[in-house]
Amino acid sequence: MMVVVFDLDDTLYKEIDYLRSAYRYIAAQLAGDDAEREEIFGTLYGAYKEGRDAFATLMECYNNKGVTKETLLHWYRTHKPQISLTDGCEGFLSVLVAKGCHLGIITDGRTVTQLNKIEALGLHSLIADEDIVISERFGSEKPSPENYLYFMNKYGADARYYYIADNTAKDFIAPNRLGWTTVCLKDNGQNIHKQKFSLSDEFLPKYTVEEFGGSLFELLKL
Ligand SMILES: [Mg+2]
Repeated sequence: MMVVVFDLDDTLYKEIDYLRSAYRYIAAQLAGDDAEREEIFGTLYGAYKEGRDAFATLMECYNNKGVTKETLLHWYRTHKPQISLTDGCEGFLSVLVAKGCHLGIITDGRTVTQLNKIEALGLHSLIADEDIVISERFGSEKPSPENYLYFMNKYGADARYYYIADNTAKDFIAPNRLGWTTVCLKDNGQNIHKQKFSLSDEFLPKYTVEEFGGSLFELLKL
């Protein structure tokens, strides 16, 4: 039996797309018309790209609107995002399902935020809710081994386990120790958290792939 578990942010979809979606939502909440919506989005995204605090910048520019940072954060975290799966991911997941693999997710974050992303990506039809480990509702976050042991307790010691993720700082250390095959999806230049490979072996994935497809099918022996 094969159990293939994925990280969510910057693995199954690109987190920069979530950020843009949230900024668009915020702009729509505050704007009186289309032109103002574009202007607010431009203010937020421009500040982000320049490494400034996007919300603080927005509040300075639009202080007459009386919006608070708490409201902006709430909108950011709870809006229903418009995001799509990483290139090649949909076809890859269909093959895994067709081959009888069990799929799961281990992700850190707020329950409502992560579930909204999973719904927007259409993943509920492929991955059972009980196989979606979200740190807030699970009670521990990566690199805690508990989040990975959950799957081993469910599917048993004889299964082959894979973790496909992107963050070399925290994603691979626990599954490496537990004997999983770890695979890093390489940053295509868009990732929010930059990858670092000059780390000790315990942090590093066993394999690195450029994309969903080709070499990933080979290393999973599909
Ligand atoms: Mg990630």
